[in-house]
Amino acid sequence: MKPSRRQQVRERAGHRCEYCRLPQALVSPLGFHVEHIVPKKHDGSDQVENLALASYFCNLHKGPNLTGIDPRSGRIVPLFHPRQQRWPNHFRWDGPMLVGRTASGRATVRVLAINLPHRVRVRQRLMEAGLFHV
Ligand SMILES: [Zn+2]
Repeated sequence: MKPSRRQQVRERAGHRCEYCRLPQALVSPLGFHVEHIVPKKHDGSDQVENLALASYFCNLHKGPNLTGIDPRSGRIVPLFHPRQQRWPNHFRWDGPMLVGRTASGRATVRVLAINLPHRVRVRQRLMEAGLFHV
């Protein structure tokens, strides 16, 4: 992937993870990945419409997944798609905890392990320091 395309994705995302919203400036830039929303193993393309900026932990847990299980209904649903869906429609904050508003939002929080205790603690500390606004 061309460096200019990576830069385009980072700027479009406002240098924040497009799933958990963690600002890239607060962690090592190497900890953020330009990821394929539809993974390459599912024939996802390298075009910018299929790319998103993701924090290390979001990308690690998302892996090649396209779907997750909505913990409320138990149904298999698509993960949040940062290019086709709007973040505020699918998620809201409850302090440092991310809450899914929709089936896709809830499944995404679960599959990407966004509320793992160590991740919540990082957000709590950043919020207390005034560095992370929800
Ligand atoms: Zn993230």
